[in-house]
Amino acid sequence: KSKATLYDSTMPGKTFDDVAGADNAKGELREVITFLKDPEKISRLGGQAPKGTLLVGPPGCGKTLMAKAVAGEAGVPFYSISGSVFMEMFVGVGASRVRDMFQEAKKNAPSIIFIDELDSIGRRRGAGLGGGNDEREQTLNQLLSEMDGFEPNENVVVMSATNRPDILDPALLRPGRFDRRITVDRPTRKARLAILKIHSRKKPLADDVDLDELARSTPGFSGADLENMLNEAALFAARYDRKRITRDDVENARDRVTMGLERKGLSLT
Ligand code: ATP
Repeated sequence: KSKATLYDSTMPGKTFDDVAGADNAKGELREVITFLKDPEKISRLGGQAPKGTLLVGPPGCGKTLMAKAVAGEAGVPFYSISGSVFMEMFVGVGASRVRDMFQEAKKNAPSIIFIDELDSIGRRRGAGLGGGNDEREQTLNQLLSEMDGFEPNENVVVMSATNRPDILDPALLRPGRFDRRITVDRPTRKARLAILKIHSRKKPLADDVDLDELARSTPGFSGADLENMLNEAALFAARYDRKRITRDDVENARDRVTMGLERKGLSLT
């Protein structure tokens, strides 16, 4: 069986410096990092380590990036799966794949398991269209029992992300499971500026580009939207054979991304 397709167990090499804004989330996650770096520090004091963390927030605002940064800060391996990919790829074997992943993570502990789009595995049971989905429920049950089955010294932290906390099975949120919820919201103006700075590090900008003004004129943009905008700007500049990205390029790119966002907004109504 090919484990490589199950998850991506990399040392992501990201740190909190790669994540702009989200100061609250970073603050709350410090505890997880401390635990991963020195598990005994907490157990010596008779404390119970935080085992399950749920990152909640809109798409593209850095939940995955944040989880990777926690792994990077702690210097531990990161096992990651996406709920929807998982459900598609492992029809019939979901539960056993969950078991494999936890085993692997425990072998290499301290470590992090990250489950993106938790809602696609973790939707409330028996509430799906057309009744229960046995396959999915078995996978979910396996996940719950893995989380319950941790020995105190196993030192695996499970992080997950969703933008639909409202549809999660309540069993996932009980104590000892994903009992800590951390919000990762859309970036503020200040955070947008910081994100623009991070993502323009390797992009030569002409002197007329004003990131401050750009941050001000992109309310509602996610980090992913801002990254996408700068990339579009680079494509515009390339199209005109420019050596640097100009204000025009950036403004064109901004309009383009804005239009895309508006279209998405329209299709929702
Ligand atoms: P999804 O729910 O769609 O999985 P997400 O919240 O997990 O979204 P990420 O995949 O982490 O979002 O973000 C996408 C990309 O956008 C990141 O890889 C990063 O390049 C950029 N990005 C998003 N938020 C930030 C941020 N706060 N600081 C720096 N870059 C960011």
